[in-house]
Amino acid sequence: MNKWNDIERASVMHTWTAQEQWNGPTIVGGSGAVFWDTNNKRYIDMSSMAECSNLGHQHPAVVAAIKRQADKMCFVTSAWGSDPRAELAAKLLEVSGFAGGRVFFTTGGADANENAVKMALWASGKTSGKIITRYRSYHGASFATMELSGDDRGAEYPPGGLRVVHVLPPYCYRCPFHARYNSCGILCAETIDEIIAQEGSSKVTAVLMEPAAGTNGIAAPPEYWPKLREITSRYGVLLIADEVMSGFGRVGEWFAWQKHGEAGRPDIMTIAKGLTGAHVPLGAVIVSKEVAAYFDFRKLQTGLTYSGHPLACAAGVAAIDAYRDEQLITRSRALGAKMHEALRSLATKHCSIGDVRGEGLFAILELVKNRETKEPLSTWPKIAPALKTLVAEGRKLGVSFAVRGNLIVIAPPLVISTPQLCKAIVTLDQLLVLCDAETQQ
Ligand code: PLP
Repeated sequence: MNKWNDIERASVMHTWTAQEQWNGPTIVGGSGAVFWDTNNKRYIDMSSMAECSNLGHQHPAVVAAIKRQADKMCFVTSAWGSDPRAELAAKLLEVSGFAGGRVFFTTGGADANENAVKMALWASGKTSGKIITRYRSYHGASFATMELSGDDRGAEYPPGGLRVVHVLPPYCYRCPFHARYNSCGILCAETIDEIIAQEGSSKVTAVLMEPAAGTNGIAAPPEYWPKLREITSRYGVLLIADEVMSGFGRVGEWFAWQKHGEAGRPDIMTIAKGLTGAHVPLGAVIVSKEVAAYFDFRKLQTGLTYSGHPLACAAGVAAIDAYRDEQLITRSRALGAKMHEALRSLATKHCSIGDVRGEGLFAILELVKNRETKEPLSTWPKIAPALKTLVAEGRKLGVSFAVRGNLIVIAPPLVISTPQLCKAIVTLDQLLVLCDAETQQ
């Protein structure tokens, strides 16, 4: 450990951990899907850090764009124009297909979601309306987004004034309706119809959900999102897609909803993470032409000092070019298919794997103590001790894995090479024995 690591341990507040338990090595460099620490120990990054370094570490074109912009002009406030801000907005409207819409830049995912909800409340005219989100969802750690989130991370905070209705998640492996996929009529979406009717469609402003992936392990069946779109349109309720994690190729599309074409188009979408490939913090709210029109002659009653920061927007422009030039969205789909095949074959060997789900370069391995009863390896959201050991041993073997509860969240950078991915999966194969030891054969 170096001197700065000791200082960091003593003086920084680290997220989502008791401070005395923090034990991260100091990372000093990276390239592509690999990063290294002060001892030059290298790690294959199987989670894109926090599912955000989609372009890998130190993408040369993104780093160069930040440097070029830093030489020109580091900061311009929202009252003045800024070329990278304009260029990034135009590119985002193009790749999202939100022609005629507008982009509001934020500094990350939580403030994107929070502002999306504010805009929905105003533009819908239902300013005191309710927002429907799911249990076992995560939308950020600001007060309002904690309230929107339906997981343990928000549970300890007092409500902040939003009226949120949580609904049961599309969790096929443990269907909360005790139904079986294919013959279930997609009850998880269908019940939202009834919930909006009961709550009163004039009192429900928006439904805010992730269309696909999520760290909490929920991966909706393909029929879910179009059904949700149909229900919300019928009731005049806005649909907000949280694409903070699923955007920018993570699940093999620019944005997860695009898999469903026009039948999945939301009214508002929020993005962050992959927007700059995490080289600089940036988030955004993208609103449809119709929602945007509401603000044409009405004041947008919100602001952020760093909305559309030039360094971040320059990084965003270069990132979008990199996704395109390197065909990373289709790569995620193709390499992801191979990755899922390899993970499914691990499931035939390891009795602790209860389920493998996800798409593109995003996969969830759900671990169980008993495949028949599906008893989880640990009670959600407690991290199973075997998974803590798996993470520690993975580090020793040079592979970084992310875990949550009884899940392993696999989300490597979209630029990961096939040999790197193979090495990581072989390591995972070795490590899963630790979990098998906790499982009844
Ligand atoms: N929404 C989703 C789906 C996320 O996964 C996250 C972060 O993990 C957020 C929102 C919050 O983003 P941020 O941490 O940038 O505020």
